[in-house]
Parts: sequence; structure tokens; C-alpha cells
Amino acid sequence: MKRTASRATEPVAYRIVPADPHGHLFEVDLTVAEPAAEGQRLALPAWIPGSYMIREFARHIVRIEARDGRGALRIDKLDKHTWRAAPARGPLRVSYTVYAWDLSVRAAHLDATHGFFNATSVCLRVIGQEAQPCTVDLEPPPASVARDWKVATTLPEAGARRGGFGRYRAADYDALADHPVEMGRFASIAFEAAGATHEIVVTGRSDVDLERLARDLQPVCAAQAALFEPRTKRAPFDRYLFLTTAVGDGYGGLEHRDSTALLCGRNDLPWPGMQESTDGYRTFLGLASHEYFHAWHVKRIKPAAFVPYDFDREAYTRLLWIFEGFTSYYDDLMLVRAGAISRGDYLKALARTVSLVQRAPGRTVQSVAESSFDAWIKYYRQDENSPNSVVSYYAKGSLVALAIDLAVRAKTGGRASLDDAMRLMWERYGRDFHAPGGGPGAMQRGLPEEAFPALLREATGVALDPALARWVDGTAELPLAKLLAPFGVTLAFAPADPAPTLGIRTGGRGADLSITTAYSGGAAHRAGLSAGDVLVACDGLRIDEKALKALLSRRKPGDTVEVHAFRRDELMRFAVVLDAPAPSEASLTASTADNALRRGWLGHAPAGARPALRSGARARPRTARAGAA
Ligand SMILES: [Zn+2]
Repeated sequence: MKRTASRATEPVAYRIVPADPHGHLFEVDLTVAEPAAEGQRLALPAWIPGSYMIREFARHIVRIEARDGRGALRIDKLDKHTWRAAPARGPLRVSYTVYAWDLSVRAAHLDATHGFFNATSVCLRVIGQEAQPCTVDLEPPPASVARDWKVATTLPEAGARRGGFGRYRAADYDALADHPVEMGRFASIAFEAAGATHEIVVTGRSDVDLERLARDLQPVCAAQAALFEPRTKRAPFDRYLFLTTAVGDGYGGLEHRDSTALLCGRNDLPWPGMQESTDGYRTFLGLASHEYFHAWHVKRIKPAAFVPYDFDREAYTRLLWIFEGFTSYYDDLMLVRAGAISRGDYLKALARTVSLVQRAPGRTVQSVAESSFDAWIKYYRQDENSPNSVVSYYAKGSLVALAIDLAVRAKTGGRASLDDAMRLMWERYGRDFHAPGGGPGAMQRGLPEEAFPALLREATGVALDPALARWVDGTAELPLAKLLAPFGVTLAFAPADPAPTLGIRTGGRGADLSITTAYSGGAAHRAGLSAGDVLVACDGLRIDEKALKALLSRRKPGDTVEVHAFRRDELMRFAVVLDAPAPSEASLTASTADNALRRGWLGHAPAGARPALRSGARARPRTARAGAA
């Protein structure tokens, strides 16, 4: 092929081929124009930004070879994810095979219906040349598999051909890693908001009503851009992509600077003719709103610890309560302010988050700052003891954001709010984010670990330093009832179930009823029952979940019940003194009187302006799971 200026390769060039969809294998050729004289080192990231867990993507590289113009070169493995090719004469060419069968938003997936990848799974980092621009040639799958695939990505085009296959460019490795790629036969729709073209792409069989999706997301996107840029109301990108994969049952999202990868149940998407909104759809809108907010908050405004990302190891910060917690606060708040949900539904969703935090004793032992720091080994790696030892920096972080917002609004009579702090963070740490051509992320400043209290003071005139220390570094209960009162909103707690309780969470395989968590200090814990115990009888009667519930409803707090359980297949007997049920279910009730503070907080959109989404329990509270990043 004749080479023209626009098709020139950069110092680092990748060619990615979905070569064997049935075997889930991408073939990748990497050319390094000027490899290191002592032998070029290459590495795959150990994690992907937005998902704070070491994932060892290199374990899916199944073959790797190196050569130069003279022939094959030796390539040695130095550690779990680093290789070194022998010194090359002229350009170094490395070819390798990546196994891609992870149906999540975090890695890579390939079969005969579509391909998806994050560069962190398929593009080796050329160590020492991370700041160099690179090209990516995306090749179509073999003609025997598909001839009609298209490409969806926000990587800048540099000579794309039919269907979007062809050459793309990234300013540096950091940019490359932040533009996931979808290829296949997807449905799509575009809409304009905040001065940018937005595209929704839906992969997977579904009869989604794309017009409805676009209509509902448009005002949410506009509201978010206006929050950060009230003057221009413009987004910091020209194009944004919602890369959505619809599956039978799935949930997840990962944020990127100009796009997001979303995974959802196909029944959560609206279908043509759907009149009402469903709980699943509300959850999907909340997820899309969450990841979109991240385009400003964590992808451009970043903790200093992420500038630049260290792809080799954990990047520790005590600030995920700001970056994930505030995002979790604003995701639903932007829906209600944009009129996509009613204020009543917003308060119901907020009450569910309060309950979620209140139910788990972990909030009394771990602070949100500690939870942020230890996300790598705790929040992302939950086990049977997590409810006792871990607090979610998503859920409690969003309540800290609420507490800050309410406190500032009340103290200033509604003249200042958390929005002002978001704008100041944006001006100081986000707006100068260097997108393509601007050089590596190192050009940018991140939010220092200790900077937030002073920044809040500067932005709002309100000093909350002692309160922040208690809410963020301590484990004291948040004074939400007191903070909500000036807004005409009453917070009350009641037991979820009036029956006395064993103080456990249960689950089970097949007919077995097992303890998944014994709450610390609870009745089961005091009696010696433990997570993993298989409950077989209570007071001499065989139990399953329903029978246990019925039995407990006939007992009183303080009664002793005899529980038989198997542990390591040994039958054991426990005398359990039942507890009164904990008042952990929150409800929020707004007064009927008009309240100016509340209007300022939840927005001025008239309640009947848009079809309100149906209320009810959210099918999958995102703050309860690690699926959304
Ligand atoms: Zn997030």
C-alpha cells in the first residue's frame, strides 16, 4: 500500500487483528521504531484505571515473539508482566497473541459476534517511550466470520477505512489506554449536548428504543456540563461515546475521558412502546450518569496519586471517597435536577443508600479514607467478613458528599454549595487536562491528598475542617437527620422486618441455607455460629429461608433458640439468644411546604415537565456492588 503523510506510522505502532474469534484470540503486531539500545523492555499494565484491583492482564498473553530486520530475536520474561527483547538493529517488531474472553468492561472480549478491548489488555507498553505518540491499525475479522463489522471508539482517526477499520492515533500510552474499542454489529444513535456529539452504541441482541435513550440522556449530559462550566455550558470533549453491551444479566461500567464502557441487562434498556420507566432503566440511567460525570471527575480532575498512572503497581490514594463518593452523589442528583426522575424517587434512592451504609457494621471500624487506600485489597476483594470490616467509599462517600452539600447550603442560605467546590476543583486541576497532542498526563496537576478542606473553604467560604475529619477519617455516624431538617426533609429509621433476628446474612447452594456473614456482635456471632455454617434446624424443625423467617416471627427478642448447623460436615448445636431487629431501614419524607433550600438542592425542574420514572426498589443498587467504577 502506498504510504501517504496522513498514514505515517508513529514511533510506536500497533496492528490489532481479531484473528480467531472462535478461539477468542487477538493477534497483535507492535513495531518500535527506535528500541532501547540495551534491549527494549515491554510490559502490560497490572490494572486498569477506574478499577482498583491488580488484575494481571499479562496472564492472557499466550505467545510472544520478537524480531528485527535480520530475523528472530530472543525475548525474555523479567517478571509477571514485563519482557525484554534482545537489542535490535533498526526497528523492533514484536508479535503476540492475547486471549480475550472476559465479558466485563475492564478487559477484552472476542467472539464471532463482536470484539471489545481496553488497550491495557492488548497493547504492550514500550517502557521509556510511554510519552511517544502511537498509531493503532484496527483490522477486521477474517471474512469467513464477518464482513459487516463496524468500529466504535473515541481514538482519533488517522485514516480509517470502511466501517471504521483502519488507522487511529493516540498522543501517548496514557491516551491509548483510555479509549476502549468496540467492533461488531451494533445499533447506534447520536445526539448533541453541551457542544459535543454523543453517540450511544448498543452491542448484543436487544430491541432497544434508541430514540428514548437519547432523549433521556441528553438533558442529563447538558446539566453535567453546565455544572462544571456554567458560562459556556460546554463539555471538555467534542465527541463522547456510551459503549453499551446488553447481556442476559450483567451490570458494570468503567469511565474514560471521552467514553464509557457499560454492561447491562438487556431488559434494563427501554424498548419501543415502553410507556413507563422500569427500575432497571432507572438504574441504567444512573449508571450512565455516573460514568459521564467521571469524564470531569477522576478522568480530568484526578488525585495527585494518579498523575501519571503507575501501571505496574497499586496507585494509593485516600481520596476515592471524593472521586467515587462524590460521583455517586451526583449521578442520581443530576437525574433529578435534569428532570429525568422525580424528587420523590430521588429521596427513595437516597434512603436506600443510607440503609445500605447503616446495615453493615463495617462503617464503625473503617473510615472512607481508609477504605479508599485499601480498595485494592478490601473493597475490591470482598469476602464473608467484609460487611463487618469494610465501608463502601461509594455509598458512604456519597453520604459524606450529601452532608457537605447540605451543611454548606444551610450555612450560606443556599448561596454556596458543593457545586462550587466541584467547579474550583475543575478550574484548578481539571480544565487544563491535556487531551491528544498535549503531551503525557504528567503535564497535569492532581488534587493533593490533603487539599480538599482548604479548597472547600476557598470555594464556599465555609470551614468544615473538624466535621470533615470526623466524617472522612473517623467512623462517627453522619448527622444526616440534623443536616436534612433545614431542607424540610425528615430522616427516620425503622427495622426492615419486625421479627427478632439471628444477626446473619444467608445464601446457599441448592437446598442448603448457609450463613454468608455473621454480623459482628450479633446473636449468631455471640453464640458461635459462623459464615459458611449450613443451617439445618431451628428448635428441632428443619429450616429453609422461608421456614426460618416464619419461626423467628413467632419469637421475641431475648428468647433462646436452638440452632443445628453443619460445619466441615460436623453437626453442631448452638443456643442463640435472639436480638431485637436493628432500625437500619431509612426513610426520607419531604414536607409539603415549599422550601427554598430544597429547591436549590434538588433543582427547579417542574415535577410534571417530563414523564417521571416509576418509583420502587432499585433492582440493583450500584453502590452495593463493585461492578460500577
Ligand atoms: Zn465511579
